[in-house]
Amino acid sequence: MRIYNTMSRSVEDFVPIEEGKVGMYCCGPTVYNYAHIGNLRTYIFEDILRRTLEKEGYRVRHVMNITDVGHLTGDGDDGEDKLEKRGRETGKSVWEIAEFYTKAFFKDEERLNIKRPVVVCKATEHINDMIEMIKVLEEKGHTYTANGNVYFSIDTIDDYGKLARLNLDELKEGARIEVDSGKKNPKDFVLWFTNSKFKNQAMVWPSPWGVGYPGWHIECSAMSMKYLGKRFDIHCGGIDAIPVHHTNEIAQSEAYSGEKPWVDYWCHGEFLLNDSGKMSKSSGEFLTLESLIEKGFDPLDWRYFCLTGHYRSQLKFSFEALESAKSARGQLVKKISSMLSSSDVAKELSEKALVKENEFFAYMSDDLRSPQALATLWSLLKDDGITDGEKLKVLYDVDSILGLRLSEVKAEEALSYGKEEEELLKERTEAKKMKNFKRADEIRDILSSRGFKVIDTPSGAKLERL
Ligand code: AMP
Ligand code: ZN
Repeated sequence: MRIYNTMSRSVEDFVPIEEGKVGMYCCGPTVYNYAHIGNLRTYIFEDILRRTLEKEGYRVRHVMNITDVGHLTGDGDDGEDKLEKRGRETGKSVWEIAEFYTKAFFKDEERLNIKRPVVVCKATEHINDMIEMIKVLEEKGHTYTANGNVYFSIDTIDDYGKLARLNLDELKEGARIEVDSGKKNPKDFVLWFTNSKFKNQAMVWPSPWGVGYPGWHIECSAMSMKYLGKRFDIHCGGIDAIPVHHTNEIAQSEAYSGEKPWVDYWCHGEFLLNDSGKMSKSSGEFLTLESLIEKGFDPLDWRYFCLTGHYRSQLKFSFEALESAKSARGQLVKKISSMLSSSDVAKELSEKALVKENEFFAYMSDDLRSPQALATLWSLLKDDGITDGEKLKVLYDVDSILGLRLSEVKAEEALSYGKEEEELLKERTEAKKMKNFKRADEIRDILSSRGFKVIDTPSGAKLERL
């Protein structure tokens, strides 16, 4: 397995700390609004990475946090807590906001067939872990208090900014525009806020430094180390996390543990763009998964669309492009359905089919080259020298990574029934409406004698093969 490491700016062989196991931390959603499809692109990338590692035989301990406090409207220490702001705007409590959008997030993940992380941890349930970490940083001389807030002093370490390759001399120049006069260095960041510009902050906790709330960065350091240990293999997020959030996570984590490197591989997903640039929640219009569903797309069309681009390349959104992903996925489903009606899934693969399957996995193991892997699948489907049964087996095998629910596709025959059966089904519905249950039962028996089972759903009755 090879994967691009943002720290070295190169594709590296993946070597885990402990044989056979991978510790992987992914920065989770800030639950003040729905996730937009750009955020979801990042979670799909992380899911594909996890699935590829699992295919390689690793046991992946995938940890993701839920940011329900501390993420200000600016990625630095400026602005207001995003949840508090949303609460004020909607008249809801911050807890209601967090619960509502956390549920909505997992509903989206489920619909996209994203595997649930092994550990999901909420920031508000780990305040003590954060306080303990800040205490150690204080004891080691990495902090100072100013304006009532506790800051991390970046001048107490010698490699601040190494992930983003920041030029600290240039940063000093920027000092003039710094708004927070309490900071010794403009890049110092808050570990614990007691001095909030917004007096009626709802989420506050007692601490050795006064009643307040944690900074956003300390959350991820405290929770990742709690569940994965002081050093772990992979840390993921979107590329916007590199210059501030991940940079600050590294600074405080390495200062805390006294060990380097804290994380071996930094993996970042590129942006989804819309016409005006990066899709973002703050810039007004953004698309949710729900809005795509309302327009007639299946969530898996979005998953397929994301797979057509490499995770390290920007992906431009357009409805035309999504339509073509929908059509490609539709063709794939149709093909499987038609093959299933005449073939059984092969138990073994011939040399020729195996070469294709291996090629697919080799692309994925080489820094997740999903566009090439998909192209391999299409060339397999067109290959007359490979039987339908073998094609089905390969499709089922590779779906362990693609996650397109290919093995749930039914055979064509099983889905189709004739006009007569349709008429009978209509008649049964009418009979039930008229409370003529005798006739309704008779029709059910006729249908079952023809090999169909009647299923009543909220949107009406359906037939399935017995
Ligand atoms: P947030 O909920 O704002 O903390 O963001 C969740 C994740 O989505 C983070 O890993 C971000 O880096 C990522 N992200 C934000 N905007 C985009 C975008 N336009 N395209 C892809 N990923 C994004
Ligand atoms: Zn994070």
